Amino acid sequence: MKPFMLFMFSILVIFFFPQMMMADDGDSLSCYPRSSLSYAMISPYEGEKLTFGNDRIHVRQKQNKVAEVPDGAILGDVNKDKDVDISDVVFLVNYILSGESATGAIDMLSADINRDSAIDISDVVGLVNMILAGIRIYLFCPDEHHPHLIDLGLPSGTMWSCCNVGADCPESSGGFYAWGETEEKDKYNWSTYIHCDGSMDTCHDLGGDIAGTKYDVAHVQMGGLWRMPSYEQLSELLENCTNEWTKVNGVYGCKFTGANGGSIFLPAAGYRWWSGFVDVGSCGYCWSSTPYSSYPFFAYSLYFSSGGAGTSDFRYQGRTVRPVIKF
Ligand SMILES: [Zn+2]
Repeated sequence: MKPFMLFMFSILVIFFFPQMMMADDGDSLSCYPRSSLSYAMISPYEGEKLTFGNDRIHVRQKQNKVAEVPDGAILGDVNKDKDVDISDVVFLVNYILSGESATGAIDMLSADINRDSAIDISDVVGLVNMILAGIRIYLFCPDEHHPHLIDLGLPSGTMWSCCNVGADCPESSGGFYAWGETEEKDKYNWSTYIHCDGSMDTCHDLGGDIAGTKYDVAHVQMGGLWRMPSYEQLSELLENCTNEWTKVNGVYGCKFTGANGGSIFLPAAGYRWWSGFVDVGSCGYCWSSTPYSSYPFFAYSLYFSSGGAGTSDFRYQGRTVRPVIKF
């Protein structure tokens, strides 16, 4: 293809694909098939399986080897000019159309935006959305201008925020929200829970997984591509990262480190129950977007303490939310 044609195609992609992506904004993401939700995937001891229940369930610490942190390795800097901008989109489109011969070798780490091990038009869409949203991806917070999007090298390509919803730094709890609610309140119980009729037996069906819907507090408050993590994304975090109980600026919490060296810190913010704060400084509780199908009054959340991490719990309780983006 001639250079002029390449240029015109680049322009078409740059201007039309973002609009196609943004047209989805606000729609519900597809639900994960129930059959993929294992009730026995959290193991308290190495090699041993437990049936999921309302008990606190712990997972073993993983011993993955942590890679060297590549200096300045930012996803999307396809042309290696130390910035992520429209020139990277042009470079990527030209590469896809012409192959290496026209543009030179491409760096998979930078160009495989959605982490599906292929360089194609879906990466262009992801890159354009990243640029339009002003989002950059890091292995750790580069400065105090939170939130940052952190790459933990996860198989699904899910990127995690460095901060909870409503927080201005990683160690801050941010807001506490009942599951499917998008505002904080003074009292958290079944009487104040807006998605039931006053009791645990009357919980409303919100239509399955709430990621990207009007019930998703991350999406409602932060907009764009931000979502609550699904149960599968929380599980992926547990299974693919080491977790270490530690302290940041005087706040206890859990540091999750991926095999690529990227890391996030989740504060042990506790949770809201009635008018009180429970387990502050000793445990963290972060909602997933996924309801527990067998018991409508439950939804999955990440639980962690100095003893490890697992899942739980009652929808009316106020919990923190750590948002994600999947390009
Ligand atoms: Zn940050």
